[in-house]
Amino acid sequence: MKADTDYRLPVWAYRLRKSHIERLYRSSARGVLDEDLIDEVGFALLVRCESMLQVGEAVHGRPPCPTCGASARVDRGPTRFARCDACGWECPWSLYQKTYQRKNLNAGGMTPFVREFVTKFSASHSHGEKLILIDTLIHRFHWESATGSGGRPGACNLIEGTMSDIMPFLDRLTYGASLPADVEQTREEWRRKWGRNPWSKGKGQKPNKPAGGDA
Ligand SMILES: [Zn+2]
Repeated sequence: MKADTDYRLPVWAYRLRKSHIERLYRSSARGVLDEDLIDEVGFALLVRCESMLQVGEAVHGRPPCPTCGASARVDRGPTRFARCDACGWECPWSLYQKTYQRKNLNAGGMTPFVREFVTKFSASHSHGEKLILIDTLIHRFHWESATGSGGRPGACNLIEGTMSDIMPFLDRLTYGASLPADVEQTREEWRRKWGRNPWSKGKGQKPNKPAGGDA
């Protein structure tokens, strides 16, 4: 019988470090469009987004095969296995599920925004545009719409830490004059939505812990 460690399992991209994002905003605030840094942060965000979309597929019973990338299937029965017909890979389904649970990888209401980022960022050749795409994505809320303030902050899926430190962190990011006016607008809109958002009033948080990020 195979041990758990004998199975090949998927590896998911980590959330971004705050220091990484902070560096990007600091350089923009100084009026520098640091193309290498934009690519670096953007690429880290891109692979995180791809992991979230792949986990979305897994959650819907179509786990991507870690060996060949094809869409595997999950069989029935008391000990369920994920199996890839393309290359013959297999592993216990519970083991696969454990690789993504409790890691903030479930895109949920962020799915359309994550998809939009992946498509547009991959196709963009303008660093100014890439910076706006990054800024827009990290300020999204799950399920948000033009009129609704949405749910949990999407940044919790994308940036390391907990909601109570991620939200004040985003609020503190320095913007510079080199950024287009619509970036500043995004932030104002984000503050307004967060102010109305039930999560900013402590929803989903542990008692006696400040929700933070009141703006
Ligand atoms: Zn395969």
